[in-house]
Amino acid sequence: MKYITKYKSPNYNLRNNSKIQLIIIHYTALKNTFDAISYLCNKEKKVSSHYLISQNGTVYNLVKDKFRAWHAGQSFWQEMIDINSVSIGIELDYNPKGKNNKYSLKMIHSLKKLILKLKKNYKINKNNILAHSDIAPFRKKDPGKHFPWQSLSSSNLVMRFKNLKKNEIKIIENWFNNINLKSKKQKTILALSLIGYDTRAVYKNDKLYYKLVRAYRIRYLNREDIINNKSIYNTLIKHLFNFLLTKN
Ligand SMILES: [Zn+2]
Repeated sequence: MKYITKYKSPNYNLRNNSKIQLIIIHYTALKNTFDAISYLCNKEKKVSSHYLISQNGTVYNLVKDKFRAWHAGQSFWQEMIDINSVSIGIELDYNPKGKNNKYSLKMIHSLKKLILKLKKNYKINKNNILAHSDIAPFRKKDPGKHFPWQSLSSSNLVMRFKNLKKNEIKIIENWFNNINLKSKKQKTILALSLIGYDTRAVYKNDKLYYKLVRAYRIRYLNREDIINNKSIYNTLIKHLFNFLLTKN
């Protein structure tokens, strides 16, 4: 796989000896690749990403993998809070309000090749290919509701959930009952937390709870279910079961 390496971002530091475990996908929300390169390579902006992929599928390597790029900001996943130290950040030249408001096939093709390579190099688990909105659901929406997660799961890069049998659903429900969880909200929060989401503040704050549910919804429900405002609960239980089976 070929990268353009002539643009370098000064915005990075050392990883604190942490292993690379996650891939975080972003959109730039800027006008075009040119603007994105200037932004991500501007010392004053104090942000960067390891990779940037243009609409025509060109991949720019702005920070070497071994360094800690500054793309995640304040975030959380699986009890980890220094996400920059354990992740590779990939920015996509996409702006929901711009002319570049489509995820082009060429861009997604390059992204898939890049993810495949990174997964192999660093042995990254399928559960650990994440949206910025997964690790910072209270502040971030990228890569947004039009990002083709379906295409990534068809290519077997992110987890595909197998449908549950009745007795499997029962295992989860019995377990919830045994630990005395009664409401759907309590069960939802526990499931989200086990998968990796930051649920620390959502018990007492409905606004944050709905933001978290929204982040989950736009990532995991299909278009039709989103339009019909379907609950995330069944998908989440399926997700949790599959997650517990494939954790390692
Ligand atoms: Zn982002």
